[in-house]
Amino acid sequence: MMAESTQAAAAPKYRRVVLKISGEGFVHPGERGIAMDAVLHIARQTYHAAQHGVQIAIVIGGGNILRGAQFSSGNSCVHEATAHYMGMLATVINGLALQDALESLGCDTRLMTAIRTDGVAEPYIRRRARRHLEKGRIVILAGGTGSPFVTTDTAAAQRALELEAEVLLKATRVDGVFSDDPEKNPHAMLYSELSYDDVRRQNLRVMDHEAITKCDEYELPILVFNFRKDGNIEDAVLGQRVGTLIHE
Ligand code: UDP
Repeated sequence: MMAESTQAAAAPKYRRVVLKISGEGFVHPGERGIAMDAVLHIARQTYHAAQHGVQIAIVIGGGNILRGAQFSSGNSCVHEATAHYMGMLATVINGLALQDALESLGCDTRLMTAIRTDGVAEPYIRRRARRHLEKGRIVILAGGTGSPFVTTDTAAAQRALELEAEVLLKATRVDGVFSDDPEKNPHAMLYSELSYDDVRRQNLRVMDHEAITKCDEYELPILVFNFRKDGNIEDAVLGQRVGTLIHE
């Protein structure tokens, strides 16, 4: 069942994509924790996108539960590395929620984690992840990179490269990359295309510096788009023009 007839007719541009969804996709604006209706909204859109035969790996954030840098700065008895591991575990909690949401819609999924959580998920093994994707399973990648002091944006760039995805789809709560914060400045301009250099020179808030540098180095395009608008995940996966495309 397709969301819109135009999408049903469109041939997918990509064979394999990595979709990065931040923790904010798992909760209502301004709240913390997990709201299953928000998770289901993402799951439904991803399900529609997967119907087109595109292989989808989802890297999930954990900011709706805990971000290491913020948590350790407010709790001096927690070592910053410990706080980052707590953040990685938060992404596993989101992964379990997304897995069940997708499976409630009939999607075949696998949750793989970069830190060992054997009781609840498979360990991330690159070749096994590829196999799942080739079999049409939606692969949820949690636990970030498995190492502290970085974010899940870096994990998304890393996984996109090693899984040979053709694009990194970065889902955000705004329509793309703007000249200024659109939630504070109503005159902020939305860019439709940017180069990696533009992003760095103008210090645009897209992804963390390490993630941008990795994508630039390997010429991996990044599409930044609004996941809250119905149909946008499907359009992004199919390669239709939504949001801001960052490329060479
Ligand atoms: N994290 C980490 N290593 C990684 C990925 C994530 O230490 O490879 C920790 C880090 O503390 C981060 C938290 O997990 O703040 C949650 O991830 P992130 O902030 O990227 O979530 P998002 O902002 O996408 O919701």
